[in-house]
Amino acid sequence: MSSQALRVGMLGGTFDPIHHGHLRSALEAREALGLDRLHMIPAPKPPLRGEPQVSAEQRLTLLTLGIGETPGLYADDRELRRDGPSYSIDTLIELRKEYGPQARLVMIIGFDAFLRLAQWHQAQALFDHAHLAVMARPGYAAPWPEELTELVGAREVEGADSLMQRPSGGVMMLTLPSQMAISATYIRKRLGEGKSTRYLLPEAVEEAIGKNGFYRHFSSHDE
Ligand code: ATP
Repeated sequence: MSSQALRVGMLGGTFDPIHHGHLRSALEAREALGLDRLHMIPAPKPPLRGEPQVSAEQRLTLLTLGIGETPGLYADDRELRRDGPSYSIDTLIELRKEYGPQARLVMIIGFDAFLRLAQWHQAQALFDHAHLAVMARPGYAAPWPEELTELVGAREVEGADSLMQRPSGGVMMLTLPSQMAISATYIRKRLGEGKSTRYLLPEAVEEAIGKNGFYRHFSSHDE
């Protein structure tokens, strides 16, 4: 029965570094979708962007510090234990195996990532394993590219209750209450310029970045 099925979310990213835009969105998406658990999963080698300056293990450490004791959020290192590029399809297949066929599995992405979804590895197959929830993100309001409209087809539903009727295959647009125009690029830029990042990311994360001297050398490639 749908009311008893476990609801599990996955939020992948580079988290280079984790910031309040990620964390507040994760918390609010968890609430909006009624998720029992939300896996936040750093990618070691994101297929569609350059190599991050800070190692995957270090980004995972920052993510773990950022989450702290937040109920329901879980820093998941599974992609670091896998060889080769980090494809979300492989992660969803793993999660589906772990939680079983009845679990409601939801991949959560920001609107900027959604705009490029049609280029992802095995994009259509993602829907065999999970729903997709797309978070609005300030500064990103572009029209959907044609191939994205084709990919989504008639999958879009209104509201979490409709989405959770089935284990996978739906798409839901999420407009969360506290949208934040924070990006990791902006944080890396400020750190590279020796400027303050206070209140953009959790204090423990800011402290660890300072102690380890991460992101001191910003280059234009990071923009
Ligand atoms: P960068 O600036 O380095 O590209 P980022 O801040 O966009 O990084 P990612 O690690 O690439 O962070 O993001 C992981 C996921 O979180 C993506 O789906 C992205 O769209 C989403 N996301 C990131 N920042 C926000 C934000 N401020 N609000 C909502 N979603 C966000």
